Amino acid sequence: MVFRVVQCCSCGLVQVTGAVKVFKCKRCGRSNQVSKSKVFFRHVNPLRARDACAWIKQEKEL
Ligand SMILES: [Zn+2]
Repeated sequence: MVFRVVQCCSCGLVQVTGAVKVFKCKRCGRSNQVSKSKVFFRHVNPLRARDACAWIKQEKEL
């Protein structure tokens, strides 16, 4: 299983998902296709993906 750090097409929230085809946004609830979304990072270890997600969020706030 691969975990991806993806961005919601609708609200822009960056989040971790283990989904292969479709993930549901945790903030706006919209379903996004993984293939059409921006993928920042991928890793087999969910903890590494979570770390990357937190780092990307910080970078975006600067
Ligand atoms: Zn969203």
